[in-house]
Amino acid sequence: MRKAQAAWLTSTIWLRYSVSADGVYCVSWYLFGERDPRCKALTKSAVSDWSNAKTFIDKHGDSEYHTQQSFVAQNLIVV
Ligand SMILES: [Zn+2]
Repeated sequence: MRKAQAAWLTSTIWLRYSVSADGVYCVSWYLFGERDPRCKALTKSAVSDWSNAKTFIDKHGDSEYHTQQSFVAQNLIVV
């Protein structure tokens, strides 16, 4: 894994690397089944296009669906 990729994993708490897919996923989607019909990257398919990954990560992180699921995940941990 390149240095930039490792930095994404430490700075983006909801991002997880899959060895089998050799790509990254959104952990909220993995655990809670986020359903964003506009954003399949990071959810239904891992992102392994490292030259464009930052764009996918930023877009997904700013999406309404991801924000809602992150809120649910944080509240689950509080309970
Ligand atoms: Zn997400």
